[in-house]
Amino acid sequence: MNKDILYSKKTVYEQLGKETTEAAFAYAEGYKSFLDAAKTEREAVKVSIEMLAAKGFKEYTLGDKVAVGDKLYYNNRGKNLFVFTIGSESIANGIRIVASHVDAPRIDLKQCPLYEDAGMAYFKTHYYGGVRKYQWVATPLALHGVVITKDGKTIDVCIGEDDSDPVFYISDLLPHLSADQNKLPLADGIKGEQLNVILGNIPEEDEKSVKNAVMTLIYDKYGVVEEDFFSSELCVVPAAKARDVGFDRSLIGSYGHDDRVCAYPSLTALLESEDSTHTLMCILADKEEIGSDGASGMQCDLMLDIIDAIAASFGVSPALVRANSKCLSADVCPGYDPNFAEVFEKRNSAFVGCGAVFTKYTGARGKSSTNDANPEFIAWLRAAMAENGVIWQAGELGKVDVGGGGTVAKFIAKHNIETIDLGVAIIAMHAPYELVAKVDVYETHKAIKAFYNFD
Ligand code: MN
Ligand code: MN
Repeated sequence: MNKDILYSKKTVYEQLGKETTEAAFAYAEGYKSFLDAAKTEREAVKVSIEMLAAKGFKEYTLGDKVAVGDKLYYNNRGKNLFVFTIGSESIANGIRIVASHVDAPRIDLKQCPLYEDAGMAYFKTHYYGGVRKYQWVATPLALHGVVITKDGKTIDVCIGEDDSDPVFYISDLLPHLSADQNKLPLADGIKGEQLNVILGNIPEEDEKSVKNAVMTLIYDKYGVVEEDFFSSELCVVPAAKARDVGFDRSLIGSYGHDDRVCAYPSLTALLESEDSTHTLMCILADKEEIGSDGASGMQCDLMLDIIDAIAASFGVSPALVRANSKCLSADVCPGYDPNFAEVFEKRNSAFVGCGAVFTKYTGARGKSSTNDANPEFIAWLRAAMAENGVIWQAGELGKVDVGGGGTVAKFIAKHNIETIDLGVAIIAMHAPYELVAKVDVYETHKAIKAFYNFD
């Protein structure tokens, strides 16, 4: 028979060879630096603005008119970024939008966090996002975030990243005494209220309080008093840095791949698309991991306000702009893992090393709560990928009825914007140390660039 009519998935290595692998390795160096510098959404926004400013992008203020050739960004509260370039074609043709998120599962401090018990000072915490609690104990942790004092001063905190810094720690039970804990279901082995972060052990000389001693150290270093914790946003993240994984260095292990592994490619693709005639937008969203709620999440109407302002600058209906816009909801997809084959359906799973992943639908049960991308749009994307030599594959969240989840896709599609999920196949999603392949990151960068420029 004519074998050309059959589809079979192949790896990027088989299809593109050594040259592309080398290009992917070079690209991965920049990505690893981004990972280490941007462990929180605030840090990701800050680093991204530095990259944009170096390329001549200017800050946009709501109400400002935009013009063809403008390269702008809107900084939403330091936690969410809208980057856009105004193309020469009519804005009535819509905007090419790529939306990823820069928040990641982590452990936040509670509002009144500092306490002492049995000679040790601790922070009380509340986990953020889909965390498997047992993975966060007995491992080095760093503290990141901001404290805003009553007089409006912002104090940046980052402890545990420099090799000379101390790190923080959450305890686990020793195997010798864990007979009862071992019998618990995995989800109950470590409970939310056990994620208490160890801060110190040396008491004050006079009152013998470890808590007070630690508070004094914090005050001396940052000028922060205990009440300032109420207006702080401090979180605990893994202290580990991004590293090559494997004898062949083909993979990258890191905290926060979900979703920097799409945020970084969407930003670099936009920076490399200056010649595009289309109006382009790159959104780095916050709060995706907790449902995209809040004023920095994709359920906020800010995206509409910005599209309205762009449309108004050219006297075009914003509804028309949205109707003709296209969006890649750029987020990770579970990569097939033979260690846990029972949750995957092999024929429709994304495989690590097989290129960028298009996911038509996510959701749960009978496709509940998902954007289900239209085949007309997918066909257009296939043409864009083919013209630009992008290696891609289809993916899904997992076996039918095994679980479920979602992305920002449905929050963008609801504004009458054609949307599909695109991203990188990832192993151990939401773990403190996640795994991706360098060639997949690079193919995703190529895929987004193709989307931004395809005519
Ligand atoms: Mn994600
Ligand atoms: Mn996630």
